Amino acid sequence: MIRVRFAPSPTGSLHVGGARTALFNWLFVQHARAAGEAAAFILRIEDTDRERSTDAFTKVILDGMTWLGLTWDEGPLFQGANGDRHRADARRLLDAGKAYEDGGAIRFRVPAEEVAWDDAVHGPISFHGKDVEDFVILRADGTPVYNFAVVSDDIAMRITHVFRGDDHISNTPKQILLYRAFGAPVPVFGHVPMILGADGKKLSKRHGATAVADYQHEGILPQAMANFLALLGWNPGGDRELFFDVRDMIAAFTFEGVLKKASVFDPKKLEWMNAEHLRSLGAERVAGLIGDALAGVEPARAVELVAAVLPRARTTLDVAHRTRLRAGLDPVVLEEKAAAFIAADPAGYRAALRDVVELLAGAPDWTPAPLEAALRALAERRGVKVGAVMQPVRVALIGALVSEPVNELLAVVGRELALERLRAAAEG
Ligand code: GLU
Repeated sequence: MIRVRFAPSPTGSLHVGGARTALFNWLFVQHARAAGEAAAFILRIEDTDRERSTDAFTKVILDGMTWLGLTWDEGPLFQGANGDRHRADARRLLDAGKAYEDGGAIRFRVPAEEVAWDDAVHGPISFHGKDVEDFVILRADGTPVYNFAVVSDDIAMRITHVFRGDDHISNTPKQILLYRAFGAPVPVFGHVPMILGADGKKLSKRHGATAVADYQHEGILPQAMANFLALLGWNPGGDRELFFDVRDMIAAFTFEGVLKKASVFDPKKLEWMNAEHLRSLGAERVAGLIGDALAGVEPARAVELVAAVLPRARTTLDVAHRTRLRAGLDPVVLEEKAAAFIAADPAGYRAALRDVVELLAGAPDWTPAPLEAALRALAERRGVKVGAVMQPVRVALIGALVSEPVNELLAVVGRELALERLRAAAEG
């Protein structure tokens, strides 16, 4: 039976790198299951660093995984609860002469032998024991060091595959030597490459938001985040990038497709991917997601508002903002560029809007096609380009220079509110 684990230390939030490691483990298990194999995903919280580990971080990690849909089959198990086993295991090595006491601590006697493994990502890797110093496994106070606790736990939990960040490659020879010392089967190791910022440096706070929760709060969809994380370091083959159905991602995922080279985190790409996921959901489901923002708005009207903004929206927050503005729940606040547009010719802006108000006040049919025809006719009469009529209307209605076509904008805002905003802007 396949058994994999994700083993975060609760000394910080769930970051992009950790989330991706969790996702790859999860995808591996789900892929195996879909192929009819028994497989389990175990969540182990490595809280042996008592000073830096907190319950709050544990909660953030569990919440982040739950949000991403990364359900675990066993756990959360807490490494800190296994102290007795860690000490008993150290004692076994001591008794077998494979470890020795050194002052207060217990050290592992590193044998002078070759350590090689076929990494699921990097291929064959080898080290030699003679290059590895005897290392501490149990401190004087009876607490285990990372390499020892991990191996003791992975053996006890019958872990068959260890997939983690490649910052752990140098730990793996030590761990393999410990497996050998215990006479335990060595799992498959796979080390996933780092995630870099746009400047080629290891991704960190300097590059902006790196915690999964930040993206959740910014209105990124969990399925888009998972899709984006999967593509950081995994090549599904061909040009395919979008997986709207997670089952397709599960079917396509293998460690053969995981790249050896570090990948670059591009927040713009995440935003693009999120927009694609939003559109794939359709207006009705997105309206359901932003329900609170449109509380009190009739359901059919909410769907109409969402449908109007969906082609240009990037996040659920963006959808909420744009729909509330069009529904009159939020007032018009001029964006910088729109303010500059007015400032370039305030008199011309107001004059154009006065004409539009006069024209549209008596419009018999407030739907996109006749509204468009009326505005075009007005531009012709005034001897100006169509844009010279459309753009002031857009600015007056939503305070921005970019949106859906103005006739559609007028239609979705509705006669009453549109005329109110146009009049207010015309009167300046
Ligand atoms: N707690 C370790 C970490 O967060 C786990 C490493 C491992 O998967 O072995 O880096």
